[in-house]
Amino acid sequence: MEAIMSVKAILDRKGFDVVTIEPGATLGQAVRLLAERKIGAVVVTGIGRSVSGILSERDVVRAIGERGADILAEPVASLMTRKVVTCGVHDTVADLMEKMTDGKFRHVPVVDKGKLVAIVSIGDVVKHRIEEAERESRALRDYILTA
Ligand code: AMP
Repeated sequence: MEAIMSVKAILDRKGFDVVTIEPGATLGQAVRLLAERKIGAVVVTGIGRSVSGILSERDVVRAIGERGADILAEPVASLMTRKVVTCGVHDTVADLMEKMTDGKFRHVPVVDKGKLVAIVSIGDVVKHRIEEAERESRALRDYILTA
């Protein structure tokens, strides 16, 4: 069952909203955005809504720990991860989970024809898996009760 579920199944329920920031914005602005929107990462977008990078709360916490709060005046581009692993709407959830596990990150931007269209977090994947397990156990229980 899970192998054929696609990223689209998650997005159809959670929506296609993505919080983005420009590479020239300051890290202070990025931190405010993370706090306001209660999220763990922002996608850094370039021309034509292409993905230029990703900035996670971990990047900021590590940089402040190593270099101090002065870094908040620096641009997002100075700290963002530039080699972003993305997925497509029609990729399987199994492939998405493998990317997150292999790369040890909790966010994967969804790209279609080179443009950012959505984002999936580890929380979205866990929610999807729990709902799926509950659906399966309900179906099994109904089957047993009516057999
Ligand atoms: P996260 O677990 O998503 O908070 O991110 C942990 C680290 O991986 C941070 O350095 C992020 O910039 C980086 N990161 C997050 N998502 C991705 C991604 N999809 N591709 C590459 N790096 C990422």
